Amino acid sequence: MAIPTYDIDLSSDTKTKPSAGMRQAMFEAEVGDEQMGEDPTVNRLLEMVCKILDKEKALFLPSGTMCNQIAVRMHCQPGDEIIADETCHIRNFETGGFAALSGASLYPVRGERGIFTPQQFLDAIRYPSNYDPRTAMVTFEQTSNRGGGSVWPLEYIRAISEEAVERGIGRHMDGARLFNAVVKSGIPAREYASHVDSIWIDFSKGLGAPIGAALAGTEEFIEHARRWKHQFGGAMRQAGIVAAGAIYALDHNIERMQEDHDNADLLAEKLDALDGIRVGLHDTNMVFFDVQYLGVTAEEFNNKLSPYKLRFSVSDTYQLRAVTHLDVSREQVLETVEIVERVIQNIR
Ligand SMILES: *Cc1c(COP(=O)(O)O)cnc(C)c1O
Repeated sequence: MAIPTYDIDLSSDTKTKPSAGMRQAMFEAEVGDEQMGEDPTVNRLLEMVCKILDKEKALFLPSGTMCNQIAVRMHCQPGDEIIADETCHIRNFETGGFAALSGASLYPVRGERGIFTPQQFLDAIRYPSNYDPRTAMVTFEQTSNRGGGSVWPLEYIRAISEEAVERGIGRHMDGARLFNAVVKSGIPAREYASHVDSIWIDFSKGLGAPIGAALAGTEEFIEHARRWKHQFGGAMRQAGIVAAGAIYALDHNIERMQEDHDNADLLAEKLDALDGIRVGLHDTNMVFFDVQYLGVTAEEFNNKLSPYKLRFSVSDTYQLRAVTHLDVSREQVLETVEIVERVIQNIR
């Protein structure tokens, strides 16, 4: 069966394809055995990551999901509990891995736009007793995907972090879109990182590399985490091929995320002006919108776009999500709005 193709793919920032420059860097990469710590390109990438995040050590992993799962395994013993926003990736999109791989449970906090307050955090902590599970970990998703790409305020992170340290609760940051937060807030990555014990960044989202993520922390933390990387099947061989793409991404694709944010703002504004569409959560590179008033489901709406080789992702029965990224230009955003307008006319 032919794989459908899209000229404008706003379904996710994972749809980015490696550019010619990135492919050239990958082609030329020096490589070695990553599992043995002998891949020079991977080692160079990890040095860059440590510098950006101001952490002692980092670990190259095949995916962000594995970064989260290893962090959970590090912070939690079986029976322990994680405090997390109810919308977060760890809870909703990792097939229950925190329970399956680490025996942990999760206390879902009903935050606002994927962000909970320091008071909500305090309320969620288990009272130390012989009966309650132990609160072992708190996680921040920066930016929050289901929150509409919302940015966790530094004051919240700092306040929650201070309370967590006092109680011996491990602090984790899912930084799949950390650089979107950095570009939006102007706060350096290292500042966010300074308030958590473990943090990771994803090279395969807005940064535009094909594969890879890096988990960072203290030397002791990462040395231990390396054992879980091996147990979870994440140790690699000549991974420098993909690490070179990640280096290229860090060198070229961080500041340009401002364009993605501008494009998302433009898209949100134009979609909201269309009759029958209601834009909901929107920040950084994400726009969630509703098509209920058109009398179609999100899936039906998306299917009507495919002849135009345009797609969003379906996030709920009547809700779609558009994510801007480096393979979508401003012109394509305007074209998207025109196509959507045409499709609305056809529905009516
Ligand atoms: C994509 C994503 C992940 C998982 O990363 P993968 O590289 O796809 O495994 C985790 N958290 C958030 C918030 C994400 O958007």
